Amino acid sequence: MNRFDYLEPTTLNKALALMEKHGEDGRVIAGGTSLLIMMRQRLLMPKVVISLARIPKFDTIRFNAKTGLRIGAGARHRDIELSAVIKKHYPILHETFHNVAQPRIRNMGTIGGNLAAGDPLTDPGASLIALDAEVVLTSGAGQRTLKLDEFFIDYYQTALNAGELLTEIRVPPPTRLGWSHIKFTPRSVEDFATVGVAITLSAKNGICEDVRLGLNSVASIIVHAKQAEQTLRGKTIDDDLLRQMGEVAASETDPVDDNRGSAEYKREMVKVLVQRAAKEALQRAS
Ligand SMILES: Cc1cc2nc3c(=O)[nH]c(=O)nc-3n(C[C@H](O)[C@H](O)[C@H](O)COP(=O)(O)OP(=O)(O)OC[C@H]3O[C@@H](n4cnc5c(N)ncnc54)[C@H](O)[C@@H]3O)c2cc1C
Repeated sequence: MNRFDYLEPTTLNKALALMEKHGEDGRVIAGGTSLLIMMRQRLLMPKVVISLARIPKFDTIRFNAKTGLRIGAGARHRDIELSAVIKKHYPILHETFHNVAQPRIRNMGTIGGNLAAGDPLTDPGASLIALDAEVVLTSGAGQRTLKLDEFFIDYYQTALNAGELLTEIRVPPPTRLGWSHIKFTPRSVEDFATVGVAITLSAKNGICEDVRLGLNSVASIIVHAKQAEQTLRGKTIDDDLLRQMGEVAASETDPVDDNRGSAEYKREMVKVLVQRAAKEALQRAS
């Protein structure tokens, strides 16, 4: 690994000022679980590493029944997994974060670092898309808010501009109470997903009122499967419709052949797992 200076600003403003000062030479570090691997492999060689660890309240988790959930970007996977308020109001997030890697990574990795890395294999993005989450991006010039499904641009590329930090994740109050998260990891439970499916759904008398579907590990970004949602919304849910939804979801993916399986296999698994997840969500919704 190349030599670098390590800075630990104690406020958000100081961190933003350091980012501006060091520009392309600087890189922020949160838990370091992704960044350090990239630095060791010399894919990234920052001269200055700016830690976010000492920014006060950067890991705060707050819930309000009217405004929903706000998670500071510095919250670690384990904080989210163990949060009582999240387990109660957003069980899909509890389940998702419980299934990220293993405790060693969950104790270090943060939600901000996870989303900012823009890695399509990671889990939280799909569940947060299923919850219609937004991200707050902050720079010296101010703040902007983006829907999470507009945040992912391409492999390891997000909508973050130079000098911008992801500071908060906002999740609306829970309205679609049926949910399911399936992390399909046939090689080992600690592996990245071969296919990940996250769904939230509301239904009355078997009719789907609303549904949101996120998929990971099946394209260059974490996918918001909008057309698949459309096949279900407003219709009476039955096996045929769910099969159709699975087919449409698969058509919205663009997986690659890799050591977790061929693209064709992953597309087939999307069809199967979307149906399975939607059935589970429907049971929970009723
Ligand atoms: C062995 C192993 C297994 C893993 N398994 C899984 C898994 O099963 N599921 C899963 O989802 N992930 C997994 N990961 C990936 C990793 O844990 C997550 O992506 C992690 O959340 C990254 O967070 P971090 O805080 O460590 O980020 P860092 O490594 O500190 O940073 C990652 C990137 O984001 C940038 N960054 C960090 N914070 C911010 C911010 N607030 N604003 C802007 N940019 C920022 C950094 O500059 C860097 O480019 C695994 C990683 C390892 C090493």
